[in-house]
Amino acid sequence: MTDSTKYVFVTGGVSSSLGKGIIGASLAKLLQAQGYRTTIQKLDPYINVDPGTLNPYEHGECYVTNDGAETDLDLGHYERFLNVPTSQANNVTTGRIYQSVIEKERKGEFLGRTVQVIPHITDEIKHRIQLLGKSGDYDIVITEIGGTVGDIESLPYVEAVRQMKWELGEHNAIVVHLTLIPFLSAAQELKTKPTQHSVKTLMESGVQADVLVCRTEHELSEKIKVKLARFCNVQKEAVIQSIDASTIYDVPNMMLDEGLDSVVLEKLGLTSSTPDLGSWNEFLHRHKNPKDEVTIGLIGKYVELQDSYKSILESFIHAGAANEIKVNVESIHSEYLNKENVKLKLSHLDGVLVAPGFGERGIEGKIDAVRYVRENKIPFFGICLGMQMAVIEFARNVIRLKGANSTEMDDNVNHPVIDLMEEQKSVTHKGGTMRLGSWKCRLKEDSMAYSVYGKTNIEERHRHRYEYNEAYMDQIEAAGMMASGINPDTGLVEIIEIPGHPWFLGVQYHPEYKSTVSSPHPLFVAFVKAAYDYSKIKKNVTLA
Ligand code: GLN
Repeated sequence: MTDSTKYVFVTGGVSSSLGKGIIGASLAKLLQAQGYRTTIQKLDPYINVDPGTLNPYEHGECYVTNDGAETDLDLGHYERFLNVPTSQANNVTTGRIYQSVIEKERKGEFLGRTVQVIPHITDEIKHRIQLLGKSGDYDIVITEIGGTVGDIESLPYVEAVRQMKWELGEHNAIVVHLTLIPFLSAAQELKTKPTQHSVKTLMESGVQADVLVCRTEHELSEKIKVKLARFCNVQKEAVIQSIDASTIYDVPNMMLDEGLDSVVLEKLGLTSSTPDLGSWNEFLHRHKNPKDEVTIGLIGKYVELQDSYKSILESFIHAGAANEIKVNVESIHSEYLNKENVKLKLSHLDGVLVAPGFGERGIEGKIDAVRYVRENKIPFFGICLGMQMAVIEFARNVIRLKGANSTEMDDNVNHPVIDLMEEQKSVTHKGGTMRLGSWKCRLKEDSMAYSVYGKTNIEERHRHRYEYNEAYMDQIEAAGMMASGINPDTGLVEIIEIPGHPWFLGVQYHPEYKSTVSSPHPLFVAFVKAAYDYSKIKKNVTLA
């Protein structure tokens, strides 16, 4: 192995959900802020080829990259923290590893040999880890190993880490182990034993942790740090406390205070300096010192799970900071929304976002919500399925196309204002077959979209099968809903808006995937501003 890229592996012990993604992203931010070209990758031990086929109840939102990879939501954190796009190479699952090894076997590439977990699966894992390193684009690659050490399905990954540490040698590959220090309230004590055991479990696979990041609800005393260092074979300086934070955006500064970046750089044989977090801290200041607040309704059907709309919630944080406004997001379950209760549930809001989604469940509630905000001139933002609902609502209630719908919900609909694209009709496989990734869009210069973006040509990320049906375009436009963004290559309608309404816009793409701390998405920024403006005049408005 000849590349000069350094590798940092992040493993997890004791419990899941400790926030490896946030620790990895925070470390990457600190290294990037010292001038190191850094990227992060996530290896997921499950057998799905990618999370595109997973229900949001399983692993939360599916994040989409520019190159159309359907990925784990942690990649969203990586992009939001680093402002550098990720790609297919940044997320690999066991399913994908096995799929490529089996494809090679079928092609006869193993020349009659027995194909085994070691070396073939581990070689494929190592190859995927080094793809980013060998691109020459990065000084440091941080690889987060999903799951918890000791899981059967994680074993090949830990073995690949062991081999890489051995092959690359000292200063080229290190392991940061994230663990939990539980507080036993009966004993009023923090306990180190689970961490000792998880470090021991790693060692049984031949991997010594170099740095321990300890999640805790209470400050770790010097005594506990010394104890952890002694029992876990790490330097005391390499025992890093990660105490619960009020926002994930505080974690880079907390890791800086604990010296995570300098200990990692020292172990990689690299020099460390003071990271430049100027613009990051400016964002934090605006986020924490809002001048006012708004309440926006997020209408979806996975509202009980925070992770399902992760990127949308984070985009509101970025846009709120840009406006110096706190955005309170109120989750509203579309399944329990109807004509009778829509006023009760929405009239106090300053803006409404109708969320992306799949399938029939909860769509009538979304349509009722769109009607209410359209008629009452409350700011509206529709994303993907939310945009499709806005077109259906307009067709039904303004153009009076009775029963207008999407063919996703009803194959035999009279007025399929949202329909499957021609090339989608023959698709039978589910995985990776939607319209995915970055697509061009041209904005009409007399539109609100144009004034928000401030340019004509944009590129945004998609993840859907159904489209605005062009056959209805003349009718819809004549009735007052403008198709303000069009794909220049295919003619597909990507944005709709209603001139005359203070802020009514729907997008077929997912702007939330491109919003970052240093580059908040202009549509979210403008929507929050519109909600704020509306909140100021709301008292004088009588709602229907
Ligand atoms: N279900 C819709 C489609 O496939 C919308 C998808 C989405 O909201 N991401 O077109």
